[in-house]
Amino acid sequence: MGVIEETFAGHEVSRASLDNCVKCTICETVCPVAKANPLFTGPKYNGPQAERFRDGASVDHSLEWCDFCGICTLNCPQGVKIAELNEQAAAKMKAQNGVPLRDRIIPETNMEGMLLSPIAPVANWALGIRPLRVAIEKVIKIHRDAPMPTAHTETLAKWLKHRKKADVKATKGPVVFFQGCAGGYFETETSKKSIEVLEHLGYEVFVPKQSCCGLAKQSNGLFKGATNDILNLCDNLLKFDNELPVVSSSGSCIGMVKHEAHEIMGVDDPRLENVSVRSRDFCEFIMEEYRAGRIDPSEFREIDLTVPYHQPCQVKSQGMGFPAIDMMELIPGVKVVESNEPCCGIAGTYGLKAERYDTAQKIGKGVFEHMQNYNEGVGVCDTETCRWQIAKSSGVKIVHPVWLMHHALGLSDNLLK
Ligand code: SF4
Ligand code: SF4
Ligand code: SF4
Repeated sequence: MGVIEETFAGHEVSRASLDNCVKCTICETVCPVAKANPLFTGPKYNGPQAERFRDGASVDHSLEWCDFCGICTLNCPQGVKIAELNEQAAAKMKAQNGVPLRDRIIPETNMEGMLLSPIAPVANWALGIRPLRVAIEKVIKIHRDAPMPTAHTETLAKWLKHRKKADVKATKGPVVFFQGCAGGYFETETSKKSIEVLEHLGYEVFVPKQSCCGLAKQSNGLFKGATNDILNLCDNLLKFDNELPVVSSSGSCIGMVKHEAHEIMGVDDPRLENVSVRSRDFCEFIMEEYRAGRIDPSEFREIDLTVPYHQPCQVKSQGMGFPAIDMMELIPGVKVVESNEPCCGIAGTYGLKAERYDTAQKIGKGVFEHMQNYNEGVGVCDTETCRWQIAKSSGVKIVHPVWLMHHALGLSDNLLK
């Protein structure tokens, strides 16, 4: 039995789709990496075509340029699981050739949060020192200009212990909030605003102790670790209640829970099945509740703003339309302009890597310009690493859609704080 069969059962499902390919080349025309980097031989070649020949040990190294954005799969009229085949083949290649130290370090997001938070001011200062960033690039190959998260001394868990709870009656029942690693340590403001908005709208919010979903490990080919992580997370969430909606403002983490762990790594476990079917992206949840007549938009105050928005590929791949746009446009005065770009280039951790940085910047150029062109001081995007990438490369403040909702409900005086 080869590496593939031992580590990811989902491969057989993806492989079964490859004969559907009619070579229409639609995937080639939409692939953001193929447009940015001639070394990448494209989705059709790396996906269904190469897969026929790589039942054995070796695969084409051009595959290493794929950022697993999933745009090809989303656009293939024949339902070929192109991105899934690529990610599975890349994991196989790493299992055979060894995983670089950097690709083992970057995905330890939970540990990084735990280490950096207690020394947040020093860590943030140190990550801004040029010679240190150059040294990091030389040693572990994280590009000197790659966006870095901002650590906070007050983690979400600390804030939850001392915060003043909303003075609103919970009339709409309980929900479980899943913050993800970034939401717990780095993007804490987005998590706080999400909890405050849900409570203000009448939900009782429970935030159980939780661990990492494993997405960064999965995209770095560490399928075994990622499978352990996603099942641990499910155990954490199941300890609490196995029927409540699980709501997350981390657009990528919730995608991992909803479909990626199952479709890419083939995790077939009743714990994941239970949690995935009741998991909702924050904006998706709000729109479902609105459509069910449980949210009254007349309580939103006007915000006179045209705001540029980019839907990340990890949100696109959830196939739920554009709930962030729908939610923001419930606010009187808000007009949203979507980037219509496939990817900002960061693709989780892809754009951090020294050898891929330039390609990632080329991929994201259209998104950065979109944010600059429509900029009235703020842009919007649903996932953390994409926000860091777009903000760093465009110079525009980028927030999660919940920031607008929080402001519209009168919970913050300043939209940008
Ligand atoms: S879009 Fe689908 S059917 Fe068309 S070439 Fe790509 S994989 Fe084949
Ligand atoms: S996953 Fe994205 S980068 Fe990779 S082949 Fe498909 S479209 Fe291209
Ligand atoms: S996406 Fe998953 S792996 Fe990445 S930070 Fe969020 S919880 Fe952790």
